[in-house]
Amino acid sequence: MIQITMPLNFLGTVYREIRQSLVDMGEMFDLLEQPAEVQDKSNAANLKVTGGHVELRDVYFGYDAARPILKGVSIDAGAGQKIAIVGPSGSGKSTIGRLLFRFYDVNDGALLIDGQDIRDITQESLHAQIGVVPQDTVLFNDTVYYNIAYGRPDASRSEVEQAAKAAKIHDFIHGLPDGYETTVGERGLKLSGGEKQRVGIARTLLKNPPILLLDEATSALDSETERDIQESLLAMGQGRTVLTIAHRLSTIIDADRIIVLEDGLISEDGTHDELLSQRGRYYSMWQRQQSEEEEVMPLEDKASNA
Ligand code: ADP
Ligand code: MG
Repeated sequence: MIQITMPLNFLGTVYREIRQSLVDMGEMFDLLEQPAEVQDKSNAANLKVTGGHVELRDVYFGYDAARPILKGVSIDAGAGQKIAIVGPSGSGKSTIGRLLFRFYDVNDGALLIDGQDIRDITQESLHAQIGVVPQDTVLFNDTVYYNIAYGRPDASRSEVEQAAKAAKIHDFIHGLPDGYETTVGERGLKLSGGEKQRVGIARTLLKNPPILLLDEATSALDSETERDIQESLLAMGQGRTVLTIAHRLSTIIDADRIIVLEDGLISEDGTHDELLSQRGRYYSMWQRQQSEEEEVMPLEDKASNA
């Protein structure tokens, strides 16, 4: 039994931050013995993922009753589909991820995975089937090896290295002073945003979940690193259901469907081409981002790209 000597309000803050950043840390919740807001039913079953069909059915939710955040949102992600969610900041995109992870229960409507209401299954089995790559991967003050193996602690050495190779971080790790035994994190070697993100991707690849949630996974990176990481993310998405919350629209043009969320409601829903031809919200967001990108691209780059 771990003796908790830290003040409880500190634990509360840590817990809230973790929950807010959507990091997959079921273990840490256990460690903190957090009396979760959401409890398993006494007869809760284990989630059985058959294909990875994710469905939000007319979901209403607010963190407090006075301020609704989602006001009747339906999203149907078929097994293996790639669905992107875009929209202004504060529109409720990350909230959808938090609800899928069941950090909170919906006020009305339901969330189903392969037909099972997530309120009827254990949170442990739910968390085991969903991989999250957040905007900012949190590293533990431990070895790189530990940080990747955290995705599946019983993985073998070669499985950990395979995951690192797939995430394109193996060669970098190999070149570190102590290789996989190098300590990283706040009190160890500081990794760049792109390197941390690759460790996070390797961790998730090792976990090998059928459902993936990418919450602005590359928005903190410069566009070159982003393009690089994007390839790893695409590879990771093969054969899985992927929900991508995206800031930069250029990263999601190949999605099977793009959902535009505005003020807690779906305002547009279609493929990139369909939404462009509608000349609505998505079209104007796209136009704005295209002209922003042109502004930041230096002249000689423009010439060489022409
Ligand atoms: P985004 O689309 O930018 O990801 P979020 O889903 O994170 O938006 O947040 C939607 C709204 O909910 C925002 O107005 C945000 O301030 C509010 N919100 C987010 N988390 C909480 C929380 N834990 N408690 C209260 N309000 C919150
Ligand atoms: Mg967000």
